[in-house]
Amino acid sequence: METYTTDAINIKTYPLSENDNIVVMFSKEKGLIRGIAKGVKRPKSKLGARMQTLVCNTLMLNKKQNLDIIKEASALNPFNKLRYDLEKLTMALYIVEIINTFCAAENLDEDQNKVIYELLYKTLNNIQNSKNNTEVVLSAIKFQLKFMNEAGFGLELQRCLVCSKETNDDVLLSLKTGGIVCIQCAFEHVQYIKLNRKIKDFLNTLSKAKIDEPTRYDNLVNEKVAETCFNLLKKYIEVISNKKSKTFKVMEATKVS
Ligand SMILES: [Zn+2]
Repeated sequence: METYTTDAINIKTYPLSENDNIVVMFSKEKGLIRGIAKGVKRPKSKLGARMQTLVCNTLMLNKKQNLDIIKEASALNPFNKLRYDLEKLTMALYIVEIINTFCAAENLDEDQNKVIYELLYKTLNNIQNSKNNTEVVLSAIKFQLKFMNEAGFGLELQRCLVCSKETNDDVLLSLKTGGIVCIQCAFEHVQYIKLNRKIKDFLNTLSKAKIDEPTRYDNLVNEKVAETCFNLLKKYIEVISNKKSKTFKVMEATKVS
């Protein structure tokens, strides 16, 4: 029987039978994989809590034609601090939802899988260690920008899409074409969002920075600006994937006001 080992982060689980679950994971070597966690719902299951969403494990799997069987799991990082804070948990679930949406259809190579795995792992770590909501949102913005770059849908934030010139003025952003245009180049029939030059610079800096390195903006940005930028990128990702985020829909529905 062919077996393989990999590190993977659980991104979704759903029931297969009375005792078994299917776990969707993002693995370091193979990208998005699905495995059967046999007997996981029994009280004395060996896999147990390690198969919960957002846990990162080193796994041993048996290769099968359709769904691989998860034989062993040892937790590398349970990301426990994400679970006791609704804002952190919501954001983490939103992040893995994006991974699930984009990586299921894409045929990524091994190097791309490794980059995305690192990005996911470090983002979950950043969110887990955030000291306030602004830091949570900032971590998510960095992920949104960098993940879209990796997925081939990076936003052009430096040069005008029409004339290719760099500008220090306020610009217009088109979500459909994925980039900025200068005021002079704007088309009448296109829907644009006004982008203040400072916000443009902020997003541009974040998209180029390393995911685990602070930027000069991290201590300057306030919650409102961070939220606005996050929602803008969320909208962009929804336009590109043609799919609304379920995570926030569910959270909105359960909010007690
Ligand atoms: Zn232009």
